[in-house]
Amino acid sequence: MNSKKAEETIKGSAIQIVVFGVVQGVGFRPFIYRLAKELSLKGWVKNIGFGVEIHLETEEKTDFKDFLKALQEDNPPLSQIENMTINPASFENLDDFKIKKSRKAESFVFISPDISICENCHTEMMSPSDRRFRYPFINCTDCGPRYTIVKSLPYDRPQTTMESFKMCEDCNREYTDPLDRRYHAQPVACPVCGPRVNLIESRKGKKIKGGIKKAASLIKAGKILAVKGLGGFHLVCDALNIKAVSQLRKIKERKTKPLALMASSLEIIEKYALLCPVGKEMLLSPRRPIVLLKKKKDIKRIAPHLDEMGFMLPYTPLHYLLLENLDLIVATSSNKKDAPIMKDEEEGIEELCDYILTHDRPIQIRADDSVMKIVDGKPLFLRRARGYVPYPQRVPDALASPSHILALGGELKDTISFYKNGYVITSQFLGDLDEYQNYKYFEETIRHLSNLFDIKPEAVVSDLHPDFHTTRFAQKIGLPLLQVQHHFAHVLAPLLEHRVPPGKKVLGVSFDGYGYGDDGKAWGGEFLLANYASYKRFAHFKYVPLPGGDLASKQPWRMAISYLMDTYGTDFPQIEILKKVSKNKIKGVVSMIEQEINSPLSSSCGRLFDAVSLLVGLSPLEVEFEAEAPMRLESQAAEGVEEGYGFTFGKKGIPFHISFAETIKSIINDLAKNTPPSVISAKFHNTLAQIITYVAEKVRKDHGIDTIVLIGGVFLNKRLLHTATQLLEGMDFKVLRPVNYSPNDESISVGQIAFALNKLKE
Ligand code: ZN
Ligand code: ZN
Ligand code: FE
Repeated sequence: MNSKKAEETIKGSAIQIVVFGVVQGVGFRPFIYRLAKELSLKGWVKNIGFGVEIHLETEEKTDFKDFLKALQEDNPPLSQIENMTINPASFENLDDFKIKKSRKAESFVFISPDISICENCHTEMMSPSDRRFRYPFINCTDCGPRYTIVKSLPYDRPQTTMESFKMCEDCNREYTDPLDRRYHAQPVACPVCGPRVNLIESRKGKKIKGGIKKAASLIKAGKILAVKGLGGFHLVCDALNIKAVSQLRKIKERKTKPLALMASSLEIIEKYALLCPVGKEMLLSPRRPIVLLKKKKDIKRIAPHLDEMGFMLPYTPLHYLLLENLDLIVATSSNKKDAPIMKDEEEGIEELCDYILTHDRPIQIRADDSVMKIVDGKPLFLRRARGYVPYPQRVPDALASPSHILALGGELKDTISFYKNGYVITSQFLGDLDEYQNYKYFEETIRHLSNLFDIKPEAVVSDLHPDFHTTRFAQKIGLPLLQVQHHFAHVLAPLLEHRVPPGKKVLGVSFDGYGYGDDGKAWGGEFLLANYASYKRFAHFKYVPLPGGDLASKQPWRMAISYLMDTYGTDFPQIEILKKVSKNKIKGVVSMIEQEINSPLSSSCGRLFDAVSLLVGLSPLEVEFEAEAPMRLESQAAEGVEEGYGFTFGKKGIPFHISFAETIKSIINDLAKNTPPSVISAKFHNTLAQIITYVAEKVRKDHGIDTIVLIGGVFLNKRLLHTATQLLEGMDFKVLRPVNYSPNDESISVGQIAFALNKLKE
């Protein structure tokens, strides 16, 4: 700041500050107002596109240090400052500080995610003298629903699902007073004017009395309730009532898929799980994700065969009231199998529960709970949704473009991403688009986000897969189409997130279950030399047949036979667990592979995990959900085992083939020696980590590359991610992995944007 000049020519000091980021609709202007008043500064603040502009002045000579410090350190909890510029301004001799009216609707404003109830509101809700005593929709500028209630911009009450609630006088006074913490809090409400709770008996469809208290007692009595939250309904029951949990599992048609828990306090969670400091911090964060924690004391039927359970704390005022006298409930998304979470009563919620605890504030867009685990002190997302969406991701400056772009992602665990004005906005997790209802949700989300951020895409990006619904959608919408190979897109996501500059080459270790390869085969164990522009397939797992195609990923015993035949030929040894499969079925699969019938070739890392998990007896013959077999294998891995198994790195040149025949042979030998599955599992994980370091070393030697990206659904495996990272860092490699996105296919659309931006630059 050129303060010297200002000093000479005018009497006072003045600056202009422009703050970019999530600073609108989160109490930022009132915060500035109060701060300026406190420090006796004059001037004004107003919303502009992207952020706020502040003019500050005083008759004294100052560098505004106190103001700037507080601006950085004490800004409202929901705000996220992305960037800030400070410039000298001319002294205007103003006599007050004002919140100026915004110019007309700006076309691009960051919208806050939905945030859990803040401490102030919680205190008010619990104090009998407060007019919002026990009011389940209390909120303020620091907390409450945002993303899931906004219909369009500008973010103003009539553009939210609160439009039909007319503010009472008291609420209006708070809403219009810049010194009130509810100033311009769009969802502001009270018992007089705001939304109300309803308790409904499902079968009869009739309202019953008693509200939240009654709902809690019904849960205690073993009933299944649907409870309306921020992004949809939860199905809820007493977590310790095995009969209720079993009933809920029957409704969800899920025998083993883990169920999420909501606990009334951290103390309750600590009774059942081991908590690390970062885990605690995440659980308590206003974004309130589900955090997977290591079991201390198991709860039956919650996460069978796994060593972790998912916990969250209450995040709406309604949750807090509901859990007042309940310690621990199951709170799982209200859907049947793979369909999206239900948000309206009309979607058939009554079929899933005994009672419905609902309310009349509509949900505009659905969003599941976010799920993460903590690896090496940092979050690792399994699912990024409520609380995190639509937080923007800034792209590397060199990639910024004036164009708008839409990226459609993959198919399973899809997300979409939009690019505009230097930022990527990624949608919430949308699920498997092969399900018709999820596909509708995908279309709904494209409309919602493009409307919210006023985006008019000039290009669309899709996967290479010719039969993905996203590819077909992209081909239909009449925009220039770019297609990106699945594993390449995976690798680009962390490059964009960590703002790696264009040109920089990395080794992308892209391990997952399935992605369409550029040779038409099913890829999934890939080592790619890549930058934003292109990739070279440096090495990959040796192709093995997937006997039965898609069935092979549901029935791991098929993969076990495929790997046994790859290792030994048709004369493979008898394995205990395979005796459970009928001889005819085995024969069928063997001849399928021999005759190359319905046995597409794959380099999938996920399928290798399936085979090993089955061989050691940890996987069921048929899995219920994706990654079940690998998760069971990981959860058993013994601590303190450092050995690995052998493997073969082919000599033929790029792409090098990595064969697991030696690995499988050693596993079979270990089994014959009665080595426990836990030890075999640990050795198998080590083998993969060692393969990664082996390839990394070779790539450094041959190509001078020392940055390694670990990406793909397989890297949700904590054991593998941790071991590989440790080994690589010990060898002085720089390791990049996603922190704000999931490594699974949710990251595909982010990588697709990166590719398109680079292409536009070229
Ligand atoms: Zn609040
Ligand atoms: Zn009111
Ligand atoms: Fe993938």
